[in-house]
Amino acid sequence: MASATAGEDGQFKLSETSVLKIKKGDITQWFIDGSSDAIVNPANPRMLGGGGADGAIHRAAGPELREACVKVPEVRPGVRCPTGEARITPGFKLPASHVIHTVGPIYDSDKDPKGSLRNAYKNCLSVAKKNNIQYIAFPSISCGVYGYPYEEAATVALPTIKEFADGIKEVHFVLFDGNVYDVWLRKAKELLQV
Ligand code: ADP
Repeated sequence: MASATAGEDGQFKLSETSVLKIKKGDITQWFIDGSSDAIVNPANPRMLGGGGADGAIHRAAGPELREACVKVPEVRPGVRCPTGEARITPGFKLPASHVIHTVGPIYDSDKDPKGSLRNAYKNCLSVAKKNNIQYIAFPSISCGVYGYPYEEAATVALPTIKEFADGIKEVHFVLFDGNVYDVWLRKAKELLQV
């Protein structure tokens, strides 16, 4: 049997124990069980909220999320999460139990946008596993304000997830933008179907 197969409904087998699901939607509303699930926040290094998905996640989680983020130690002034790394907090008022904050590369100024984007996905999965997360939902990290072209981002995101998803039952992409969704689905069929 092929190691990765696609269904018509955006489901792809990543390994014997992991599945990828690609869907359209608002990541702030996503959850599976409210205890071993996490949404990924495409944050900035300060981790105190921002625009796009980050702003929507902070609004939906309530002010306790910002308070939890303030408590994350700075690694240098103004930086709680360097580009490509990940930090975890509770989800507070969100339906998902946890938020994994990561910082994607700014496409036009990062020295190695591909390496940084790969690290962001990889480190989110690593933090998830260390915290017994079974279900994780990603947005298209860096594809908004940070300006990463969708096709190139999908070409990094999907193989990185396949490489590091083992140990997580379900990896979801919850994509707000119809164009991003179309690119992700097409690229997944191209890169994950064997
Ligand atoms: P970045 O700064 O990493 O580019 P953005 O939040 O600006 O982060 O955009 C990342 C992606 O998240 C974009 O493709 C954007 O369409 C998407 N996005 C924005 N709001 C939401 C949401 N509520 N749920 C899921 N994805 C969202």
